[in-house]
Order: sequence, then C-alpha cells, then structure tokens
Amino acid sequence: MSTDEVLHFIGSGSAFNPEMDNTSAWFCQNGMFFLLDCGETVFGKIWNLPAFETASRIVVLLTHMHSDHVGSIGTLLSYCAMVVHKSVDIYYPSSALVPYLSMVGIKSSFYTQYVEIPKEWGIEVSPYPVEHAKDMDCFGYVLTLGGRKVYYSGDAADIPDEVLQQFLSGLIEHLYQDTCMEVSEHHCPLSLLEQRIPKEHRSRVSAMHISSKQSMEIIKEKGFQVVSV
Ligand SMILES: [Zn+2]
Ligand SMILES: [Zn+2]
Repeated sequence: MSTDEVLHFIGSGSAFNPEMDNTSAWFCQNGMFFLLDCGETVFGKIWNLPAFETASRIVVLLTHMHSDHVGSIGTLLSYCAMVVHKSVDIYYPSSALVPYLSMVGIKSSFYTQYVEIPKEWGIEVSPYPVEHAKDMDCFGYVLTLGGRKVYYSGDAADIPDEVLQQFLSGLIEHLYQDTCMEVSEHHCPLSLLEQRIPKEHRSRVSAMHISSKQSMEIIKEKGFQVVSV
C-alpha cells in the first residue's frame, strides 16, 4: 500500500525541525475533512486546500497537547467559526482540551469535543495510550477507513504491544511511527524500531516526526519508509 493512499501528510518534522513542518496528515470521509494533529504550521497548510474548502465539517483528532501538535488549533477554530462558518469537532479523550482552548480565547461554541467517535463520522478510531510525556494524555490511534486499518502513533517512545501484534499478523496494514535517531524516553529510537519490526515487514512502516532531512536516508537504509509530504 502506498503511504499516500490513506493519509495525506502536510508535514513530517519533529518539534525542533521547522524545515520539515509539523507532523500532521489529513483524509476525507463522508464529505468530512479529518485532520490528525494541528501544530503551529498546520493551519497555513490546510486553510485553502480544496478538500478543506468543500468539506461539510472539520474533524480534528488530537494525539496530545504539545505545541507542535496543537499550536494552530486556536486559529483553525476561530477561522472556521468566524470566516467560513464550518462546524469543527475535536476528538481527544482528555479533560485537558477545554482549559487550554479557554486560555487561548476560544469560545466553547466554536467546537464540540468528543471522547467517543460518533457513528456518522464513518470511521473507527481506537485510542492506545502511548509513552511520551508524563504530564499529559498521549494517544496513538488505530484508524479504520473503508475497511483498512492503519496506526498513527502521535509522539510515542514505543509501539503498544497489541498494535504491534495486530500489525505483524497483517490486521493493521500500515504503521505511521514517530521515529528519532538518538536514545530517547519520549520518541521511538530507530534502533528500537529495528528490534520491533522484522525486515520483511518494514516496507509497511513509515517513519514520521523526523528530526532532520539527513536522517531520512538512514531510516530508509534500514528498510523503512518515510512519510512523503
Ligand atoms: Zn511532537
Ligand atoms: Zn510531543
């Protein structure tokens, strides 16, 4: 499966790699525009996409609350409420969202938060708590779109066991995984990804949240893909 077939990436960088923009992806389903994370660079990349402009509704799936994942959500919500008059739904099963949005001046009428996925969205989302930051709720999501399952890690130091087993058995077609080059408790080191994923499965894993352009070649030499933007 091509990595572009299910998710359209608009950035693939880590927080301190502005050259590659914040890691984020979108897809459409049932006439709705779904966005995975909304970091600082994201609003500027999506606001004039035809798929965004024609969508009946905008849905944002947030993995966690670091700025490179939520940094432009306030602007997105204001723009949708005040300029293009589109409803925005946010899926993030955590109580941290409302106080944050209130603090950056977003009225509660500008969005609806969901902690469970409503049927009318036409997708399934299974949240998996991941190891990343101890002071906030962090999730990876298994997404079922048109019968196909993919996993989007958000920022995560490892792959949840259940997700890894489903991937190795073929139930999950593709992993999109936060990958870093150094030893880390917050992001998944390439060396750990090599341990977790046997060579024959690596073409179904795309690294994202990359710290530099140079690291892309090293990741590919190990048999993995890197998300294309
Ligand atoms: Zn990040
Ligand atoms: Zn993070």
